[in-house]
Amino acid sequence: MLSGADFVSLGFDSHCHLHFHHFDKDIAKVVEDSKKAGISHILIPSIDAATAEVAADIAEKYGLYSAAAFHPEHLPEESIEDQSWVALKEVLLRPGTVAVGETGLDFHHKTFSPKKQIRWFRKHIKLAEALGYPLIVHSRGAEAEVLQELTEPPSVPVILHCWGGDQQLTDTAISSGFYIGTDGPLTYKKNNKYRRLVSGIPRDKLLVETDSPFLPPEPFRGKRNEPAYTRRIHMGIRELWDGRMSIEKTAYILWENAMRAYRLHPENRRADILYKYGNSLYANLTSSCQNNCSFCVRRTEDGLNGYFLRHMEDPSDALVLSTIGAFPIENYKELVFCGFGEPTLRYELLMKSAKAASARGVKTRLNTNGLCTSFLRNEQVTRLLDCFDSVSISLNASGAKEYNRICPSSVEGSWEHLMKFIKLVKNTGIESRVSAVSNSGADLQRVKALAERLQMSLRIR
Ligand code: SF4
Repeated sequence: MLSGADFVSLGFDSHCHLHFHHFDKDIAKVVEDSKKAGISHILIPSIDAATAEVAADIAEKYGLYSAAAFHPEHLPEESIEDQSWVALKEVLLRPGTVAVGETGLDFHHKTFSPKKQIRWFRKHIKLAEALGYPLIVHSRGAEAEVLQELTEPPSVPVILHCWGGDQQLTDTAISSGFYIGTDGPLTYKKNNKYRRLVSGIPRDKLLVETDSPFLPPEPFRGKRNEPAYTRRIHMGIRELWDGRMSIEKTAYILWENAMRAYRLHPENRRADILYKYGNSLYANLTSSCQNNCSFCVRRTEDGLNGYFLRHMEDPSDALVLSTIGAFPIENYKELVFCGFGEPTLRYELLMKSAKAASARGVKTRLNTNGLCTSFLRNEQVTRLLDCFDSVSISLNASGAKEYNRICPSSVEGSWEHLMKFIKLVKNTGIESRVSAVSNSGADLQRVKALAERLQMSLRIR
């Protein structure tokens, strides 16, 4: 049971454009002020590939989150459509970029034709579904059309940001299970009708956003909006829900909603399937492993380099393949199947994924603990290795006794299985090496001697 003190420092501004020039001079102070005001989390949506990059930089620097998409008023020119789309996807590969947004339709400004806007909105919906990323939707003067495009609710959380639909459209959005964002205008004196509408939104589907620097709440109208003012909207919602509820508890409920909407909540946390490391791209198929190595990063961390990699549940084959299909993997030196667990445990998917990458001319490498001979027949192992350009095997020890001490395993005879795998690898002639960790307590001189006897090159990590 959480107490009042637990609620104090949690608050989520679910849509805040810190990438705009309005914050160029004092962004550090703005973020600090928001933290002081109990707004612990901020998501920065973007409006095109360039601002997505800036939003990702800010998110990385200040420990926030960002999203990437083309806003319906900022769509790319036809001549650079493909190039812009790839640039946007590159940003979506960055750690901390957790959603596709903001995309949608804007028939109020009509900067682009409805036809072009709808085409791009559909592209974004498809992309969000392919990656399993939440979708942030802008709608202005086009709320009915937006819902029309979402008639078949996407398989990912949908966030209707700064929602301005009438009661009937709101009821449709609610019945589709969408999250609905409310902003500063909730606090404006004359907005009783809007407040009534917001009070009918289920408490677990309501999100609070400032949409900074726009739409400041009372009493800051006419000034630049800031994430710290999220508290003012919390106060407005508390009045709608229950005037006696503490502001901290109100903020906590709304924080949890945003955490769920962006798939950051422990209940539905999304782990990254692809992540960048150096010039290579890595694929993370599973969080399971037969071993519990003393140096394994999984013992103390949930991810690496800002990426969250611990799958609560391994991703489906379809999601892994659509993620590989959607990202510009050709831009990388190689695709390494490594992850936050042992990739060969997903043998069939591993082969399909490696083949999909090879078909696009991408070099593939398998990083493995070499224990798959414990559950695969020799011909299956050979078929698996055929799918890769190279393989790297974790050796980590100079003999069974040392291996069992450093890499305790649930596999009976793990060292023997590892030796058998190395032999099979050598028989195939595939480019291969073994590796060992420098500070694991292994006798590295003996490991080196073993690698020489095995005629394998050794990489000390
Ligand atoms: S084999 Fe790799 S993933 Fe498995 S416990 Fe050891 S270091 Fe971790």
